[in-house]
Amino acid sequence: MNNQTPDKSRRAVLKGLIGIPVVAIAGYQSVSYAAMLSMDDPTAKALSYTEKSTVDGKTCSNCGIYQGGSAASGGCPIFAGKDVAATGYCKSWVAKA
Ligand code: SF4
Repeated sequence: MNNQTPDKSRRAVLKGLIGIPVVAIAGYQSVSYAAMLSMDDPTAKALSYTEKSTVDGKTCSNCGIYQGGSAASGGCPIFAGKDVAATGYCKSWVAKA
């Protein structure tokens, strides 16, 4: 027989919720949290990466391999493990398919 009152049951459920990580409640976000690519990175220098494109109509955000979606920064397979600026550009820019 259950001799818990509804208030005690509710309290037990609420206590259990405290243990759920915030990310699980908020939902998965596709935001990247990798370190930003340094313009001093040898590969970045070799590909003339810049955080602010000076090439008309070409930025990381409209590059075919940019992985940041509409975020201000995101991944790029050329620079694995680092984020590039959506406003950036490098010589490897490719048009979206
Ligand atoms: S290839 Fe170059 S232009 Fe394209 S997302 Fe990567 S850094 Fe930006």
